[in-house]
Amino acid sequence: MNTTTTRYDAVVIGAGAGGMSATARLTAAGKKVLLVERLNRLGGRASSETIDGHIVNIGAIAIERGGIFEETFDLLGVPLDIREPNPATVFYIDGKVINVAKGGWGMLLGTFTKQAAKIGAKFADARAGELPEAQLTTQQWLEQYTSNKTVHAIFRNLCAAIFAVNADELPARAFLVYFAQKGAFKRFGFCPRGTVGLWNDLGDGIRRKGGEIWLEAPVLAMHADNGRVTALDIQHDGETRRVQADVFISNIGPTATALLPGANALGDDYIARAKSVPRPAANIVINFATRERLLDVPGLVTFGKTRRLCNMGELTATCPELAPTGWYQYVAYAVPRPAIGDFDEKAEIEESLADLREIFPGFKEAKMLSVRVMRGDWPAQRSCAGFDMPQDTPLANLWHVGDAVKDYGDGGTQACAYTGREAANKALSALAAVAA
Ligand SMILES: Cc1cc2nc3c(=O)[nH]c(=O)nc-3n(C[C@H](O)[C@H](O)[C@H](O)COP(=O)(O)OP(=O)(O)OC[C@H]3O[C@@H](n4cnc5c(N)ncnc54)[C@H](O)[C@@H]3O)c2cc1C
Repeated sequence: MNTTTTRYDAVVIGAGAGGMSATARLTAAGKKVLLVERLNRLGGRASSETIDGHIVNIGAIAIERGGIFEETFDLLGVPLDIREPNPATVFYIDGKVINVAKGGWGMLLGTFTKQAAKIGAKFADARAGELPEAQLTTQQWLEQYTSNKTVHAIFRNLCAAIFAVNADELPARAFLVYFAQKGAFKRFGFCPRGTVGLWNDLGDGIRRKGGEIWLEAPVLAMHADNGRVTALDIQHDGETRRVQADVFISNIGPTATALLPGANALGDDYIARAKSVPRPAANIVINFATRERLLDVPGLVTFGKTRRLCNMGELTATCPELAPTGWYQYVAYAVPRPAIGDFDEKAEIEESLADLREIFPGFKEAKMLSVRVMRGDWPAQRSCAGFDMPQDTPLANLWHVGDAVKDYGDGGTQACAYTGREAANKALSALAAVAA
């Protein structure tokens, strides 16, 4: 242990979307902030790696424009380097591309069921705040209006694409809050340097404003006294350093936070909840490249009836720099059954690949870049929407950020940026109280 202790206003554990957002806001507010990350790169589950000359995203690809996420970059004067596809999303059903930007969901559902107007009316009710009871799943809710298999497949694949769960795992209330009340990925873009490019830009902005970032710096233990966190033990540059601060923000999720040595200060009840409440949701990510274009669509494609596949994007349509010349680069997402809980990884991958082979005969010629199963402690969502923990903890100066503590019915990096703003505001109030 290094005997010299270092002191900051705030320490943030983990450089995922939530931790980066909180750090950016605290730094923009002029606070002395340290962000520590155990890996050698920024972005957590929304980062990128290079495989055979292709820049391949590890998690998030679609970054929302015009919301809290972009506002975070604005605070540090960092441009959000994304390119928006147009149209942003289409459906691909029975061999046809359906662009809903023109006729909306009503037109899409109207093709398959006479009940489209009734379903549309329920969306309008949700916009006005009238929501189903929390126990009803999206599938059960939809069964009240239609038994059409294609409509059920569309809803399943929307649940899978946005929330990484099946329609029988997601509360209908969360689905409707997201699609009727929140941003719902209407405007988004892809970073031409891979999603990690955005975090590298934001990291530079944080450093320019005086914030410190330590990579390859895992937090090993937490120290608490009198209901407050006092310090963290952090491995950095070959030694363990004790770092003190007035406020702390954790981006590693309530479960991992509760497992840190010293976290018993959170109390037995809280620790039990942190281990049982979050419901990690899994998905399967298939990155591949082809010499011939499979589908001439610039944005994200959501599928109809499939085994497991839910959506796909050809990122080179907007960002050709991601792939060596002459390659079309795709990412396809599938969601296992079940997505929450245990499943046979090998069988689920095979089902997902079978969908790709069936829908796109050209897929058999593809160069496979990676097949990743996101699950366990590195999942698609640390908790399925509708089953999040609060951001507050029993320790007065510790808050969570990230996708296990999202606002109700929220999802994705935008949701994490929202948690970053909330935690940073609470931390700033606490710092003001310390200074007074
Ligand atoms: C395949 C996939 C596709 C997705 N697509 C999209 C999309 O297109 N658009 C979108 O908006 N969202 C998407 N998402 C969701 C989005 O990526 C996540 O919700 C978001 O990135 C989670 O961020 P987070 O704030 O929870 O932090 P995390 O990404 O979980 O980051 C936490 C960080 O903490 C670090 N850490 C852990 N333990 C320690 C420790 N002891 N000490 C120090 N550091 C530690 C980890 O290494 C990690 O970097 C996708 C997710 C996946 C998996």
